[in-house]
Amino acid sequence: MSTLVLGAGMAGLSAAKTLKDAGEDVIVLEAKDRIGGRTFTNRTFADHPVEFGAEFIHGDKVALWSIVNELGLKTLHWQKTLDSLVHMEEGNWLSMSEARSRHPEFDITRSWLLPDVDPLPNEDWQSYLSRIGFDEKQLRYVRRSFANACGEGMRFLSASAVIRGLRSTLEQNGDGDYRILSGYDAIVNHLAQGLEIYLNDPILSVDWSGSGVSVQSLDGEKYEADSAIIALPLGVLLADGIKFQPGLPRHKQNALRGLRMGPVIKLVYKLTMPLAAKEVMAIYASSNPPMWWSPSFGHNTNENVWTAFVSGDWAMDLLVKGEEGALESALSSLKKELGLPELEASESHLQNWPDDPYTRGGYSFVLPGHHGAREKLAEPTPPLFWAGEACAQEHQAATVHGALETGLRAAHEVLNHNKIPAPIATKLRSKPKSPA
Ligand SMILES: Cc1cc2nc3c(=O)[nH]c(=O)nc-3n(C[C@H](O)[C@H](O)[C@H](O)COP(=O)(O)OP(=O)(O)OC[C@H]3O[C@@H](n4cnc5c(N)ncnc54)[C@H](O)[C@@H]3O)c2cc1C
Repeated sequence: MSTLVLGAGMAGLSAAKTLKDAGEDVIVLEAKDRIGGRTFTNRTFADHPVEFGAEFIHGDKVALWSIVNELGLKTLHWQKTLDSLVHMEEGNWLSMSEARSRHPEFDITRSWLLPDVDPLPNEDWQSYLSRIGFDEKQLRYVRRSFANACGEGMRFLSASAVIRGLRSTLEQNGDGDYRILSGYDAIVNHLAQGLEIYLNDPILSVDWSGSGVSVQSLDGEKYEADSAIIALPLGVLLADGIKFQPGLPRHKQNALRGLRMGPVIKLVYKLTMPLAAKEVMAIYASSNPPMWWSPSFGHNTNENVWTAFVSGDWAMDLLVKGEEGALESALSSLKKELGLPELEASESHLQNWPDDPYTRGGYSFVLPGHHGAREKLAEPTPPLFWAGEACAQEHQAATVHGALETGLRAAHEVLNHNKIPAPIATKLRSKPKSPA
């Protein structure tokens, strides 16, 4: 049986590999000139890999580890409590472990040992935290770290979804954040091995009115198969980047209405001097950008590459300044905050994910009142099957391992569906391009 996989990100590649390994006929169609999607390892900025997209493996129990171990990849454990500095609201700098042990009001924004209070229907994350007693200072700490990592301002996040994610994350994903020292693309390339992938091939429409699927790309080429896995970013689906014929069923449209992509950007600098002591890998600042870390950490290098990770209002405030303005403004905030007026960058780069037409944002979040939207987005609508981080379970959503798991799930749904004999089993028809 034949399957088209739309999108060569982690979800699409894991789906395609699973199907191919099961002996299915599969083609991957990708809009960009590269595979990997939001995993995007750069190898020219520095003498070590620099991640312009996803950077860490979040958790020591997640599915990515089987590939990391199989490939024998070296990882760096981000020892947050030891190698991170926090600019406290009082103006002093502390190591993360000092900040946590000396300031219980700060510690709770890291431990998330919250009172057992359920969110109200439609409650947003900020209102929930205020209701359970977080004061302004604590809310600022949450904004600077947790909410920044969630990819959007707290007022936009469903409290039910966040609480559900928090309650199951540690148990399901395990603890810790790890960087693959040789780059995330090692996993991407492994999954892609032997797959038939067409690059530079943006899909415009998906016709699923018959027993199979017919897909049309920007240059007018048509592909046909028994089924298709839609492994496209939520941002592309929300922007009506793909015309579905017939339109998507109501439950799918409702799911899309409850989900959004937060604006997430990375600003990467090659600095002319070290920012801090050698053992410091990360800095939690109190101005914009609120989060900095060094991809050089753990590498045998003299380079001082630092990345600012910025989302939500912080990201929008920088983006309105234009690319150069954003890079200048972020660096000058850091100089001021660290008291290092002589700090300069010899090179810098802004990775603007919201402006990328084939991503349109950083990653997904659930709007207040729409808890359950991810599950609805994931539901199969044969001959269409759904993958991608936005339709992962809450504790896995917005991550690489979540995307990987949705690809596996969607591939198994296709395989199960194929056990039922299809009326017409079409062979894949593809254009005579050489695959990537
Ligand atoms: C800045 C940033 C940092 C992050 N950091 C981390 C991290 O540290 N750890 C972590 O686990 N996660 C992180 N994430 C999230 C993680 O990158 C994503 O959740 C995951 O990579 C999404 O994979 P995906 O396959 O669902 O989507 P994508 O990777 O977006 O793949 C979708 C693919 O579809 C393609 N496409 C789009 N439109 C079309 C079209 N019309 N036709 C054909 N193809 C199309 C795209 O080009 C893309 O290749 C980060 C994300 C960002 C943006």
